Amino acid sequence: MQRMDLHTHSHFSDGTLSPAALIEHASCSRVDMLALTDHDTLDGLPEARLAATEHGVTLVEGVEISSQWHKPNKKNSFGVHIVALAPKNLAPLQELLAEQQQIRANRAVQICQKLEKATKTDPWPEVLALADGRAEGVTRSHIASWLVQKGIVARQQQAFDQYLKEGKTAFVPLAWAEMDHVLNIINASGGQAVLAHPTRYGLSATHIRYLAGLFKSLGGHAMELPSAVEPPATRAMMDYLIAQHDLAVSVASDFHGSNMPWLKLGQVPVVKENQRGVWEQF
Ligand code: AMP
Ligand code: MN
Ligand code: MN
Ligand code: MN
Repeated sequence: MQRMDLHTHSHFSDGTLSPAALIEHASCSRVDMLALTDHDTLDGLPEARLAATEHGVTLVEGVEISSQWHKPNKKNSFGVHIVALAPKNLAPLQELLAEQQQIRANRAVQICQKLEKATKTDPWPEVLALADGRAEGVTRSHIASWLVQKGIVARQQQAFDQYLKEGKTAFVPLAWAEMDHVLNIINASGGQAVLAHPTRYGLSATHIRYLAGLFKSLGGHAMELPSAVEPPATRAMMDYLIAQHDLAVSVASDFHGSNMPWLKLGQVPVVKENQRGVWEQF
């Protein structure tokens, strides 16, 4: 069986490696099928395509799209990441992603303005430099890195807990595309829509069950399996939901690089025999 990793990041979003270095790392780690899925951008793909040919790695084209959904009878929205894999036509995605990148750039500036008030230092020039000067690529991870570099917090997680999470000083409310819209666009592109890390949004089991059903009913195809470090009960719940909603599965590390050293390239969960791989549709 091929060794796969279907969700990874390069420095076109908040990963630390270039797409070429990521592919080389995949080759050295004996990963023979790799998806590059940067946040809301496909811009790393040309470089990844060249490197994949050079290193004999099968590249799956992809993107991790930020979106929002609503709990039943609740007005406020929640963020959810949807990974689009192996689109046949990039045009419908490009239009959506251009809007998302604008949202991302505007939000980053607003977060930095809030942080400037709180810290008396303007983070923007250095945050922008951390994202290689691409305002549309700035994620909260870059801003968290800046807070660590300045010694304002000790760790990335602390940056989220004290400044960047909902309800904290520098939080800016979500304005991402609605989940149904994102799923329609992925379907229009001929790609596979994968619900990313469903157990990492801090949702209750009741809300994870609701989200899984909603995702399937709106045209989603697959769900990422929980990583091996998550409790067996979590895996059992997800296996049950995958079967209940007849979803395919995806295997992914969500590798970012040295900024998140606990996520290792190619370290992915094991697929059960009765589960259908999303890769069968590529
Ligand atoms: P953004 O899309 O700009 O909101 O940022 C996405 C990145 O921020 C993701 O790759 C996560 O690794 C990181 N992130 C989001 N929420 C949290 C959190 N509560 N704690 C730590 N990291 C987080
Ligand atoms: Mn990320
Ligand atoms: Mn994600
Ligand atoms: Mn990711």
